[in-house]
Amino acid sequence: MNKYQLTKEVIELKDETIKIRRDIHKNPELGFQEFKTSELIYNTLKELGYEVSIVAKTGVVGLIRGHDQTKTLAVRADIDCLPLQELNQVDYISQNEGKMHACGHDGHTAIALATAKLIKSRQSELKGNVKFIFQPAEESPGGAEPMIKEGVLENPKVDAIIGLHLWNNIPLGTLGIKSGILMASADEFIINIKGKGGHGALPHQTVDSIVVMAHIITALQTIVSRNVNPLEPAVVTVGKVESGSNFNIIAESAKMIGTVRTFDNDLRDQIEKKIEQITKNITQAFGADYSYQYIKFYPPTINDVYMASLIKEAALDVVSNDMILENEITMGAEDMSYFLQKVPGCYFFVGSANKEKGLDKPHHNPYFDFDEEALSIGTQVMTNAIFKYFER
Ligand SMILES: [Zn+2]
Ligand SMILES: [Zn+2]
Repeated sequence: MNKYQLTKEVIELKDETIKIRRDIHKNPELGFQEFKTSELIYNTLKELGYEVSIVAKTGVVGLIRGHDQTKTLAVRADIDCLPLQELNQVDYISQNEGKMHACGHDGHTAIALATAKLIKSRQSELKGNVKFIFQPAEESPGGAEPMIKEGVLENPKVDAIIGLHLWNNIPLGTLGIKSGILMASADEFIINIKGKGGHGALPHQTVDSIVVMAHIITALQTIVSRNVNPLEPAVVTVGKVESGSNFNIIAESAKMIGTVRTFDNDLRDQIEKKIEQITKNITQAFGADYSYQYIKFYPPTINDVYMASLIKEAALDVVSNDMILENEITMGAEDMSYFLQKVPGCYFFVGSANKEKGLDKPHHNPYFDFDEEALSIGTQVMTNAIFKYFER
């Protein structure tokens, strides 16, 4: 008896899905270098009879057409690994030194390929089109944006998108399905302060850039505590400061680097401006100059209410209601967010931790691994969701 409601087809596909996951795990490739992974995906989809194309260097897109082609649903899976040396003792250990699938993207790829196979076997039941998007470089520098620029959401036009992340923060058998905000934006700011250096004993001849920097750092703490609505999550962190050369020299310049995390694009813009305002006015008050750079990386990941309810419905056919967690959110970031800015969709977490088996290490840890039972659960929820999307 199965703990989860898996169809005969998904159960039969289990060993093959695990094999694909392990093959990819053995051969991890970094962002935009996923040539072998890309080839494996390309060939598998081609053999299944998909219309296949390469998008954004190493990204692969597979299209299957339903009988009344009015709508197109996209399924997104990321395929890249991390620059990390694997320390697990498993027979499918990474064969590429300093590279490791430590986030579960090997599993995402295997799930999407298994789903593609199941969808193909039921093509006669399929009403609309399904576009499988295998995206490179999620960890960095980001593959979603270039894929969109190259037209992955067109021809046929994508109406909605779904995707999943295997998630060791929640146990196997649970699913994190949330509408609205899910993951934070992640940005970087760089502030250079230009004062006037001089002798440590003659401060009146100088503009001490370290003192200016100290005031700015202190004032930045008031953004979250005094400007942001306390009910809205936000982080402003100064992670690195650089200045000075000796005890008796007043520093000419100072540099600080930090990160901003939010769940809201307007708030993100406000914080960007506020940091500059504080920097500008403090440096001016002290007679110093500044330069300011704010680099926007991934925007917040925001799920559509309707699509989240669709995923929940699909999941309820696999697990019981108490296994669905509707408040699993994280300050981590994801470039699935770019797709979700363009089309309504839902990104959800598939619980993959199994403490008894020691498979509960955090993502990006050299001992990361997950319970492969999650591959079948992910495949089942995905497949259910695809058919439900066209039925609804
Ligand atoms: Zn990751
Ligand atoms: Zn990831």
